[in-house]
Formats: sequence, C-alpha cells, structure tokens
Amino acid sequence: MSFSHRNMSGRHRVVIIGAGFGGLFAAKKFKDADVAVTIVDRTNHHLFQPLLYQVATGILSSGEIAPSIRQILANQDNVRVVKGEVREVDVNAKRVTADLGGKDAVLDYDSLIVAAGAGQSYFGNEHFAEFAPGMKSIDDALEIRARVTGAFERAEITDDPAERERLLTFVVVGGGPTGVELAGQLAEMAYRTLRDEFRSINTSDTRIVLVDGGPQVLGPFGKRLGRKASHRLEAMGVEVVLNSMVTDVTREGVKFKDMKTNEETFVPSYAKIWSAGVAASPLGKHIAEQLGVEVDRAGRVPVNRDLTVGEDRNVFIIGDMMSLDRLPGVAQVAMQGGQYAARTIIDEVENGTSPEARKPFDYFDKGSMAIVSRFNAVVKMNKAEVSGFVGWIMWLVLHLLYMVGFRNRAVAAFSWGLNSVSRRRWQLVATRQQLHARNAIRKLRTYEDEEGKRSIEVRDNLRFGEGRDTRAVSD
Ligand SMILES: Cc1cc2nc3c(=O)[nH]c(=O)nc-3n(C[C@H](O)[C@H](O)[C@H](O)COP(=O)(O)OP(=O)(O)OC[C@H]3O[C@@H](n4cnc5c(N)ncnc54)[C@H](O)[C@@H]3O)c2cc1C
Repeated sequence: MSFSHRNMSGRHRVVIIGAGFGGLFAAKKFKDADVAVTIVDRTNHHLFQPLLYQVATGILSSGEIAPSIRQILANQDNVRVVKGEVREVDVNAKRVTADLGGKDAVLDYDSLIVAAGAGQSYFGNEHFAEFAPGMKSIDDALEIRARVTGAFERAEITDDPAERERLLTFVVVGGGPTGVELAGQLAEMAYRTLRDEFRSINTSDTRIVLVDGGPQVLGPFGKRLGRKASHRLEAMGVEVVLNSMVTDVTREGVKFKDMKTNEETFVPSYAKIWSAGVAASPLGKHIAEQLGVEVDRAGRVPVNRDLTVGEDRNVFIIGDMMSLDRLPGVAQVAMQGGQYAARTIIDEVENGTSPEARKPFDYFDKGSMAIVSRFNAVVKMNKAEVSGFVGWIMWLVLHLLYMVGFRNRAVAAFSWGLNSVSRRRWQLVATRQQLHARNAIRKLRTYEDEEGKRSIEVRDNLRFGEGRDTRAVSD
C-alpha cells in the first residue's frame, strides 16, 4: 500500500516518525509551509509522559494527558496522520515502511524526521519486566494503578500477616524524577488518600522503598536539590536506599546489593515499579547502521550539529533518540530539536538555501523540575535552584503551559486544585485487563514465536526431509 496526499502532489514530502514531543512540535512548525507532511505513530495519541505518574496514582485520567494526534493536527491541511508502527527505513530508497495492523504502508520521503523516543531499559535483565512494569505508556501507568490499588485490596482480605506486609510494601527502582514523583505520590495515597477507606488494614502501615544505584536521588539536579528531595521523601515516610543495585526481581519481591558493603537485602513486595533506565528506539540503530554510524550504549544515535546522521543531510534524528553534547533526554530537547529540523527543511524548500548554510542546533536550557509532594517541587534553572512551594508553583505553571489542548489544561488545573484541598482521588478505576494484559500479550507473542518456529521446522522437514518419515512429522 502506498500513501500520497490528496492535492499535495509535487510538494516536498516530509515523513515524521513519532508524534511525541519532538515529532508533534516538528509537525506543528510546518503549519502553512509548502510541504506535504506525513506523521506516523504506533499510537493514536500524543503522550505527555511527565504526567504519567499522576495517571498511575489516580490524580488524572488517561485522556487528560493523551489527546488524539489526529485532533491536534486537524486544522493543518498539509499534515496527514497515519497510525502504524514503523518497521523499516531504507535511507537509500528514501522510504519508510510501517505496519498498519497487518498491512504494510510505504511512505516515500524527501526529508525524514525520526522522533521515536525511548523505551524502558532493564540493563539486560528483561525478565524483571514481568513483575516490575516500567512507566513509558498509558498502558504502563494503568497497569501500575491496577497493581497499586490491587495490593491494598488484597491486603484488606488476607489473614496472613507476612503476606499483608508484602502486599503493603511498594518498591520503586530508580531515583530520577519519575521514581521520586511516584514514591512521593504513593506515600500521599497510602498515608492520606486511602487512610479511612479500609476496615482490616491501616494503610499508614504501608512501606515505600525507593532504590537507586547512585549516591543521591535526582542526580542531574545536583547535590543540594537531591538532598532536599530525599529529606522531603523521608519526612513523608519513604525509605530512600542509595548506592544499591537491584540484582533480582521476582514475583515475591526485590533483591538489591549495597555497592559499598556488598550486603544483599531482599524486600518482599507485591507491587514493584521500574523507572531506572532508558533505551532509545531500535529504529536508531537500524538507521545508523545504514549510514555507517555507531550508536551509544543506550542506543542513541550520535548526530551532526544540524541533527542529521552521517553523510545523509535529509535524515534528522531528534529527542530521546539522539546523542549530542550530552544533552539530557527531556521534553525541551525533543521539542526544540523538532522545531529546528522543521525550520531547516522549510528554509531550504521555500528559500532555496543549501544544507551547507545550515546553522547548528542551539539548545536553550529552560531548566528541569520534579515534584516531590503536594506543594513541594525542586527546580534547577542553570545556576538557580528553587525548592518547596515556589518550586511547586513553577512546576504547575510550566506543565499547564505545555499540556496540549485547552480542555486538558482546564481539567488538570481543576484536578490539581481539588487535590490540594481534598484527600480524595477520583481516577482510581482499575480493571483485570489493565493488570494482566501486558504479560498476557507477551506470553501470547512467545507462544506465537514458538509455534511459528515449530511450523517452519515442520515445513523445512517436509521440504528437505529426505529419508525422514515425513508422515510422522505431519501427523
Ligand atoms: C515517566 C516519564 C516522566 C518524564 N518526566 C519528564 C519531565 O518531568 N520533564 C521532561 O522534560 N521530560 C520528562 N520525561 C522525558 C520526556 O518525556 C522525553 O524526553 C520526551 O518525551 C522525548 O520526546 P521524543 O519525541 O524524543 O519521544 P517521545 O515523546 O517518547 O515520542 C516518541 C513517539 O514515537 C512513537 N513511536 C515509537 N516507536 C515507533 C515506531 N516504531 N513507529 C511509529 N511510532 C513509534 C511513540 O508512540 C511516541 O508517540 C519523562 C519521561 C517519562 C517516561
């Protein structure tokens, strides 16, 4: 299947892979430009990842942080939205192949912007994922919500004190912004929101353990803000375990090793959450190999100063997939990268400037922030460091500013306002599907792979099985 725009033939064709922060901001920048843009994403929504933890902990609903891509771009006539998973990029043929649910779509391009982001990394221990979901998608956040609420429900009905303790112990792996925000919110849920809602258990007995391999939480924020965040978490009842590497995650709990003493600790826990590492989309390696470039350990592609790869001036890689000047994997880097790539293409298409005249990408650091608890956030802007209530107000304003859609902003502002004055949370729906679907799909895929291999073996045996009893094989 080949795609082309209605009434857009002859125009410069731009394909954007991914409608996250980088891809969406690039697409928006093309508004009114004389180009035909196709943006392809495997989901139908633009995900505001920084607020995933609020979906996981029942503050916001999923729709509020994941508006429809098609709706956002509905008024941009030169943009076509395709929902499909990109499987292949052929940089010589300038062609992208996407799987549209069983059917392949071929998208030809003149310029390509690759913004497929990053997934969770378990540092080679992929089996940890079965019991400790990461937090990268709406599905992940809803599964975590189901695991967290499910833990309290099970604890309420068990008669076994050891099992109750295990159910009321939550382990968050990774002390970056996501881990800190999640641990803080779990503490608020346990010690504030759910306090009066159970009859057999006291949710104040809940134990929340935050484990990190480094010497502080929020490493990139610097020592002072890291210490403040730790103190605040500890004051809320979170156990912060530093310099410790997780060595095993099982159904029963989490084992970690103190890197200074080599002492191993096992914490029995039902709900475990992984927020420790990221790996760039494998599309990066796939493209880099074709252009003779080697990816880094996290799978990021080293890019030129104009965000292109190797010798190919038409392939831009941006956001979490790119490696340049040790820029962090944050939304601003992706957004500014997307806008830069779009501006560069527009300039060359409309004004005839040459790739040699490109100005290098110049990142403007607007700072980083993480919320620790209600009314408390840490903010780092160049040398300025802010924490506490003022930080929380800054966090609030900035997140409202960057959320997409007036309704989402209004609903989020209302929910946060309500959450400040009330203990309740209104988005605690949890279903069996949310709890089991990810692992069920994984098992189904393994089964299908094994069945696929088995049927290939059977076919090969039938085809090449000279001297074999082919009847026995086919029976
Ligand atoms: C839980 C969490 C909290 C965060 N908090 C913050 C924060 O507070 N502040 C901050 O600045 N940053 C934060 N980040 C990081 C920030 O979200 C990322 O840096 C940013 O999203 C990167 O943008 P991107 O466009 O590169 O990728 P993404 O925004 O991840 O977008 C990638 C898009 O590509 C699509 N895609 C992937 N593979 C394919 C494929 N093969 N075919 C088609 N489509 C594909 C995905 O569906 C997705 O829509 C957080 C991230 C997470 C996970």
